[in-house]
Amino acid sequence: MEITADFDGGNILVDEVRGPSASLRIRSDSNAPFYQWFYFRAEGVAGENRQFAISNAAGASYPGAWSQYRVLASADHIMWNRLPTSFEEGVLKFTHEEAPETASYAFFVPYPETRRRALLTVATGTPGVERRSIGRSVQDRSLDMLVFGEETGGERIWVIARQHAGEPMAEWAAEGLVRRLLDPADEVAKELKAKTTISVIPNANPDGSALGNLRANADGVDLNRDWKEPASASREVAAIKRAIAHDGVDYFIDLHGDETRPYIWVVPPGAHLDPAAARKALHFVLELARLHPELQPPPVGIEGEDAAEAGMSVNYIATTYGCPAWTLEMPFPEVPGFGDSLLADGCMRFGRSCLEALNVVIGQGK
Ligand SMILES: [Zn+2]
Repeated sequence: MEITADFDGGNILVDEVRGPSASLRIRSDSNAPFYQWFYFRAEGVAGENRQFAISNAAGASYPGAWSQYRVLASADHIMWNRLPTSFEEGVLKFTHEEAPETASYAFFVPYPETRRRALLTVATGTPGVERRSIGRSVQDRSLDMLVFGEETGGERIWVIARQHAGEPMAEWAAEGLVRRLLDPADEVAKELKAKTTISVIPNANPDGSALGNLRANADGVDLNRDWKEPASASREVAAIKRAIAHDGVDYFIDLHGDETRPYIWVVPPGAHLDPAAARKALHFVLELARLHPELQPPPVGIEGEDAAEAGMSVNYIATTYGCPAWTLEMPFPEVPGFGDSLLADGCMRFGRSCLEALNVVIGQGK
């Protein structure tokens, strides 16, 4: 059996392969100690039961995540299925029974760079859509943004995704949202574009995504801890802050994945909004919950004030601009009662729902 991870988003270290069994470790982020994201391909031993053991799972950034987690596998990168998985004595073990000649294994359905490029190309050719590069990453990748809607002086919505590289659900959701905005027949998209301008950054951390990192950019900076004032250490966050300062913001969404919690939830921004903004912030969450029963209230013990100290985007935006700002967390594990309703398609559907909820909230006057 041959194991490779030398491709876009790949991450695994191979310690030993014996027949259909492999002992593996997850590699840490570039210049940072975080790790949990893995993604690799195995070839050979077709028809046999492939057995994998990730020996450093206990030291991952969120070891509590493994106990209720099952690894995803795919032969064609379209259909992803869960494998029998166990976490015992610090080792994550999983088995692929009667494995095909080639299969990929990942912590979540990977979102490939080629797909992002294709989406940006489609968007670029669509009337009424502007594609902008707002800066360059550490490794000189473009930070791409799509802008939808008339420049009518209406309100501005910002959506950013995948500050944390190993949370591809964020980019799946961003694609769902972008595709809805690109659909000329979609009533929600039409209404929203008529009254607002929507700026979308589908991938805020293209280096980390390509490198197979969990959280950090190429320099080892956790971007969603880098929004503290006065200055951000990363050029990615600095570029996004500049673009927002230039264009203004009235609503802000930051899309993420949660390794541990098996539901969608919204992180409180921790900033004190005026009553009108706070009402809109809550209204949006209630609309989302109506569309997605997988959404649950924030876990007990998560205080908004912690976010204020942590350098997260939502606190910076809410504090600086006084507007609603949401960190939306989608789950890595299956959702009890809903199974795998939030793989790639489900996350795209969630992105579409974000527009629907925004349209209701913004339609309610000021
Ligand atoms: Zn995150």
